Amino acid sequence: MFEKILIANRGEIALRVLRACRELGIHTVAVHSTADADAMHVKLADESVCIGPPPAKDSYLNVASIVSACEITGAEAVHPGYGFLSENARFAEILKEHDIKFIGPSAENIRTMGDKIEAKRTAKALGIPVVPGSEGGVADIAEARRAAKSIGYPVIIKATAGGGGRGMKVARNEDDLEIAMATAQTEAKAAFGNGEVYIEKYLEKPRHIEIQVLGDGQGNAVHLGERDCSLQRRHQKIWEEAHSPALNAHQRDEIGARVAKAMRELSYEGVGTIEFLYENDEFYFIEMNTRLQVEHPVTEAITGLDLVQEQIRVASGAKLAMTQEDIQFSGHAIECRINAENPATFAPSPGRVDSVHFPGGLGVRVDSALYSGYRIPPYYDSLIGKLIVFGKTRAECMMRLRRSLSEFVVDGVETTIPLFQNLLLENDIIDGHYDIHWLEKYLERNTP
Ligand code: ADP
Repeated sequence: MFEKILIANRGEIALRVLRACRELGIHTVAVHSTADADAMHVKLADESVCIGPPPAKDSYLNVASIVSACEITGAEAVHPGYGFLSENARFAEILKEHDIKFIGPSAENIRTMGDKIEAKRTAKALGIPVVPGSEGGVADIAEARRAAKSIGYPVIIKATAGGGGRGMKVARNEDDLEIAMATAQTEAKAAFGNGEVYIEKYLEKPRHIEIQVLGDGQGNAVHLGERDCSLQRRHQKIWEEAHSPALNAHQRDEIGARVAKAMRELSYEGVGTIEFLYENDEFYFIEMNTRLQVEHPVTEAITGLDLVQEQIRVASGAKLAMTQEDIQFSGHAIECRINAENPATFAPSPGRVDSVHFPGGLGVRVDSALYSGYRIPPYYDSLIGKLIVFGKTRAECMMRLRRSLSEFVVDGVETTIPLFQNLLLENDIIDGHYDIHWLEKYLERNTP
């Protein structure tokens, strides 16, 4: 087992990793930008190193600084969290060249899954169902027309290098196609420096359902069930739950088994998420995330596993400690992402947090790095906390969510807490009847 791990991240996820390390008796090194000198992850770590000025490209994305921080402190491994360098294959390679363990999959697996066309091709070859679409990138409008015609309208044009919901455009018919393609290419070029696009069947009313996997890189892998992340705004998740209100145990076992088998064939190491759109009882692969996800606590709640500790164990060379039969699901869990944003306009609301109070009690977990007097810097993501509730049934979770949101106090900045309180009044939410477009339509109806 490692003696010292460097956590290459900030905010709630840095704290989450730190907690896992502390329970395992591993020393922690925090890194931080000058804007984060007073951050909670710095206060709680055994050691800390300042790695640069506020902009992420100069600090949390600064590979040379992070490698130096490992060398100065003698950290043997790096946990990347999510975002920042967590899906950067080159970073994983550079660490390896310095004899530092990257806690995550091989650079090769990261690279394959980071290219959306390659990822789809790989998934298909491994027997995972994919969205019907073009075989690879489409170079020009003539090729796009041919592809769209054989797939059938409506289609969606997506960036090969895509991420964060950018560079996606829907075309409902051949007349739309030319403009949609040009816009998607321009957006992709601007956002990712790579204008290549591909075409997929556009699904009208899917749910977003993803399967959590865990592998040891030695040919063993299990699935840990699904999460339903259909409540999205601009393709960004705000609410995640396990199990999905739409799946039964048989469907879960079937798709889970297929995905776990694929991960065994890849000799996948660490945690990962296979994302699907789900419509009319069919699953369609859209992408794989080769890292820990923001929403991992809902899976922890229903399996009783600590996913970060499992990541660390397999990274240290241990075999998977469990078989599929050992994994028992129990109850239901829901996560709400609390952002420092105006709940109606979603404009960021950084600044000083005068006081905070977190809810507690049976079945309530809060992952957050906030404290009273903390100043939320304007440079990073607006996620300031995650409220996770769990209970025997979904209905129990809904009651618990109402109760704990009413206890949650963040004074001094605006948060998305009122949005969740309003969502809990909606019958569709209470009944679990929602798809990936539900939230956008709700916001259109309810924006003053
Ligand atoms: P990104 O990497 O940018 O997040 P994804 O491929 O994961 O892109 O897609 C993000 C979201 O976009 C999905 O959760 C879904 O809401 C929507 N989406 C993607 N592909 C399709 C599709 N073929 N049909 C309908 N919606 C889609």
